[in-house]
Amino acid sequence: MERIDAVVIGAGVVGLAVARALALAGRDTIVLERAGEIGSETSSRNSEVIHAGIYYPTGSLKARACVAGKQALYAYCAEHGVDHRRCGKLIVATDEAQIPTLAQLKDKAAANGVPDLEWRTPEQVREVEAAVRCVAALWSPSSGIVDSHGLMLAYLGDAEAAGAMVAFHAPLEAGAVTPEGIRLEVGGAAPMSLLADTLVNAAGLYAVPVARQIAGLPPATIPQAYYAKGNYYTLAGRSPFSRLIYPVPEAAGLGVHVTVDLGGAARFGPDVEWVERPDDYDVDPVRAEAFYAAVRKYWPQLPDGALLPGYAGIRPKLQAPGETARDFVIQGSETHGVPGLVNLYGIESPGLTASLALAELTLESLERARAAAA
Ligand SMILES: Cc1cc2nc3c(=O)[nH]c(=O)nc-3n(C[C@H](O)[C@H](O)[C@H](O)COP(=O)(O)OP(=O)(O)OC[C@H]3O[C@@H](n4cnc5c(N)ncnc54)[C@H](O)[C@@H]3O)c2cc1C
Repeated sequence: MERIDAVVIGAGVVGLAVARALALAGRDTIVLERAGEIGSETSSRNSEVIHAGIYYPTGSLKARACVAGKQALYAYCAEHGVDHRRCGKLIVATDEAQIPTLAQLKDKAAANGVPDLEWRTPEQVREVEAAVRCVAALWSPSSGIVDSHGLMLAYLGDAEAAGAMVAFHAPLEAGAVTPEGIRLEVGGAAPMSLLADTLVNAAGLYAVPVARQIAGLPPATIPQAYYAKGNYYTLAGRSPFSRLIYPVPEAAGLGVHVTVDLGGAARFGPDVEWVERPDDYDVDPVRAEAFYAAVRKYWPQLPDGALLPGYAGIRPKLQAPGETARDFVIQGSETHGVPGLVNLYGIESPGLTASLALAELTLESLERARAAAA
């Protein structure tokens, strides 16, 4: 059995950010990824938006990690040549009754450390985004977009340069907490047994099943997993938008919004479809009708037939449909009692934006546990 200092499960954007931080801290690190490439799940099935940090409850991990992560991400992208654009975002009220919600969002954003939201009149909105109809809007100048794959490659490059390695086709199949460390059974192309001092579970949609595979981790500390699919439709033809356009948020998601990608194409979504399983990414063409209705509230000129089924991503949720939204969970030994183990649960949006901050917080959790045990 090979002894390894630190193991990360999952080579998504968060697992790679954690591996990078561990390697830069001098830890001998290996990432176990069951797919044959990096970022094949949620990290390549999202909106690629750099979120400002507006929506999340003040003081929550989501709020703190988003605001800190956004700042770190802009600096990182500039330094490492990762393609990104601070294009800004408009949150539009299409009904007078939504204006108080915008006012609440502005206050919440300020409390979260995002003091730069500004009111825009419908005329001001039309000057910059001629297609958009609204009764009022908030302008968020610090929102942007990023090439998520380029970002993951940059994290991987840093991690490898600092000595980390990624094992592909290497699914974690079982684990056990032992007095010597955490024993890991890895299947796939080259099955192996490892003994890890540190284990970070960054398996995204599978973080809960991965935790359940670790004998000795108290089952009562493992949350129940729920899944909410987000479907996207793409726009045939040229995009009339150059900024992100969001409606006022709805339950479990941010509403069917427009995001532009770095190539200038527009996509709409994601919506919210609660599903039983985390592995069905088909976009049901029947949903198009609801997309037309949602988008036409702020873009009445959307032509018939312009929306094409795009792709879908699935949010790893920790609450059942209808329950209050849960925060990110960075679960260390103070909760589950296993030295050297951190489970990352419920890393839905804004996990891409927050990836560098989540990596820092994970290392801090490991450091606290080490100090407490010393
Ligand atoms: C629809 C949608 C839109 C989003 N939009 C945004 C956005 O605009 N901005 C933003 O900031 N965030 C957004 N997010 C959130 C963001 O995409 C995620 O938080 C982030 O990608 C999560 O990364 P991860 O590394 O935790 O998980 P993942 O990318 O899912 O990576 C987990 C990895 O673990 C691997 N794995 C699983 N089980 C095992 C196993 N047993 N052994 C080995 N490997 C395993 C998987 O193969 C996978 O590669 C969005 C999410 C969704 C669903």
